Amino acid sequence: MAHEIVKKIALSQENYLIEVTAPLVAEVYRPGQFVLLRIHEEGERIPLTVSDVHPKKGTIVLVFQVAGKTTKQLSRLEEGDVILDCIGPLGNPSEIEKYGRVVSIGGGTGIACIYPVTRALAEAGNEMISIIGARTESLLLLENEMAEISSELHVTTDDGSRGRRGLVTDAFLDVVEQYRDAGGIDRVVTIGPPVMMKAVAELTRPLGIPTIASLNTIIIDGSGMCGSCRVFVDGKMKMCCVSGPEFDAHKVNFDDVINRLTMFHEKEAQSLSLYDAAEERQP
Ligand code: FAD
Ligand code: MG
Repeated sequence: MAHEIVKKIALSQENYLIEVTAPLVAEVYRPGQFVLLRIHEEGERIPLTVSDVHPKKGTIVLVFQVAGKTTKQLSRLEEGDVILDCIGPLGNPSEIEKYGRVVSIGGGTGIACIYPVTRALAEAGNEMISIIGARTESLLLLENEMAEISSELHVTTDDGSRGRRGLVTDAFLDVVEQYRDAGGIDRVVTIGPPVMMKAVAELTRPLGIPTIASLNTIIIDGSGMCGSCRVFVDGKMKMCCVSGPEFDAHKVNFDDVINRLTMFHEKEAQSLSLYDAAEERQP
């Protein structure tokens, strides 16, 4: 079954929201899960978090940032176009309970991934303090949506083009200070570049705040067979696609995650420049 794009919104030049028909995914999805898309027969598979579902319409909502060839190709599709494969929902749903005061920290494309988790935690009665950050304003995602579901939203950009100039960890340290004598923080959830999640984990470890990170490893088959998403958690090898994507951030070997994400940089750059060159040749 091909999957039709029934709605497309350009959130900025780099960020897009698409609503796609995938009735079986919409029916059983739970927050924190993702799908694997393959646009056409010769395309590669990429994982995207399901941002929302409309089970009655049989559609799912995906929010993505153009990061390379496949996401660029996806951004070129219009309403009425179809995606060949959409496998899912994959990964374990997020642990959603009433923890109390939860800080949700999203960076870059991780903001798209943390939005449904933040919303589910808010619906479960948690007080949500959210922090989102990106390199620059045009890469920020879902600011209004995150504000709506959070009791407080802090925005940071590396260049100061929106919100506070600096990193999400700078804003997090302020939040820690703000609530030090007001009950503290009960839990942190974080999704973003692994360097960011590592920095968050190093801040929360000495504070004893339970911290969950959703890992953005390279995922290809999504069934635990190909091994591309392997990570070390508490010294044990896990496949992120079937055992994750969420893990106890204090037990993740982030340096290994960071190294493995760069494995295919050269090939990814080549593939994007070939795609760009072919696009330029089009009349
Ligand atoms: P490329 O140029 O091929 O790669 C750019 C970078 O993206 C690579 O260096 C690598 O770090 C990463 N990447 C490449 N291929 C993969 C792959 N197969 N799996 C994972 N990472 C890859 N992005 C969003 O914008 N929105 C989301 O909701 C979202 N959800 C995700 C959920 C999960 C569980 C994971 C693991 C990743 C998610 N991503 C999301 C990241 C997204 O999958 C990558 O940006 C995308 O695969 C890049 O593909 P590309 O061909 O456009 O770029
Ligand atoms: Mg790619």
